[in-house]
Amino acid sequence: MPGSIQDSVYYSDGLFKSVVQLIDESCKLAGIDPNVADRLKRPKRSTIVSVPVRMDDGSIYVFEGYRVQHNMSLGPGKGGIRYHQDVTLSEVTALATLMTMKCSLVGLPLGGAKGGIRVNPNLLSRAEKQALTRRYTIEIANVIGPDRDIPASDVGTDGQTMAWLMDTFSQLKGFAIPGVVTGKPIDIGGSLGREDATGRGVVHCAEEAAKILKIPMSSNTKVAVHGFGKVGAVAAREIADLGCTVVAVSDVSGGIYNANGLDIRDCMQWVSTNGSLEGYTKAEKISNEALLELDVEILLPCAMEHVIHEKNADRIRAKLISEGANGPVTHEAHSILVKNGVFVVPDVLANAGGVTVSYFEWVQDIQSFFWHEDEINEKLRSLIVKAFHEVHDTAVRLKCDMRKAAMAKAMLRLEKAMLLRGLFP
Ligand code: GLU
Repeated sequence: MPGSIQDSVYYSDGLFKSVVQLIDESCKLAGIDPNVADRLKRPKRSTIVSVPVRMDDGSIYVFEGYRVQHNMSLGPGKGGIRYHQDVTLSEVTALATLMTMKCSLVGLPLGGAKGGIRVNPNLLSRAEKQALTRRYTIEIANVIGPDRDIPASDVGTDGQTMAWLMDTFSQLKGFAIPGVVTGKPIDIGGSLGREDATGRGVVHCAEEAAKILKIPMSSNTKVAVHGFGKVGAVAAREIADLGCTVVAVSDVSGGIYNANGLDIRDCMQWVSTNGSLEGYTKAEKISNEALLELDVEILLPCAMEHVIHEKNADRIRAKLISEGANGPVTHEAHSILVKNGVFVVPDVLANAGGVTVSYFEWVQDIQSFFWHEDEINEKLRSLIVKAFHEVHDTAVRLKCDMRKAAMAKAMLRLEKAMLLRGLFP
């Protein structure tokens, strides 16, 4: 139907379709006002920009960039910027929607946004990446800012990218504005604990879920971690430190497996020296696909979206999944997992640790007063554990899985705010 969400420019990416379906189901379950539900299926504002870059060989290449602000009822937009060759407006919109839900769920005074550029950052030199980031920042400068929308790092971007973004925005305004982005290096207003925050949150959720499932955090509990980057490596280290045996980890070069457990710090050291897990000698090789199907108690998918789908969901043997990545389990696969009795802690809860410490970073930047790392880690833990139990209580009350419960809980808070604020004009 013209005007329906299925007919809109946003409705093409699989993740976006899954998110809309989840919103519909959760709204029905929680009795959300249909007008609010309709508004939450669409972003408030999308900015599409062309980003011309002079490449090292003198040629000019024009990249396509996006910044989608999904909902700002609770506060300024918040969410990462992704550099990846498969980024689309539809995918960025899905991720912005998930950011709205994440911030609402943890109780942060922030809305949801996301940005991205269709580019393979691994093919760019440092100079090209810097030029790309600075021009993109200028193109979106009128819609971002500490009180409007605060970007952060995501897949394919890092602290250096955020430093260039902060510098470009500050040059434009004439003074240092650290609060315009989070995930910055500590020396220019970043927060202690931000780098490890997402991985820590994934494990806090796994730990709480394990208590419910009566899975002990001991060496008898085997764990597989899909993705060994900013999120997966930290999650692997944290869960190993709790006493579990991490038998497999993987990255783009493939996976490694050791039935007796991997020494995660040694693997991290290998990656920092060699760039990837490729060639690691103290384990057997295993494919990324096989890793997901290992006979383990806990699986932490911390790489990209949709790695668990209709075709492999029935072969997943883990009892507990904590979603470090955004959307690693498709909508269809999730129904299969739930039917098979797998407990899935959804992304909007499991990986909300990152945006939680981003919120702390923004607050510290605005106050120009910085906190100790222990204090940050403790505040993170208490917010994530509280959110976990609120979602679990909602799941019990609505008799549904954790994914629908998380969405319902997030939307109940948004519904209150949106109805109180009313519709303008
Ligand atoms: N990119 C991260 C996410 O998807 C962090 C966003 C942020 O810190 O604003 O949650």
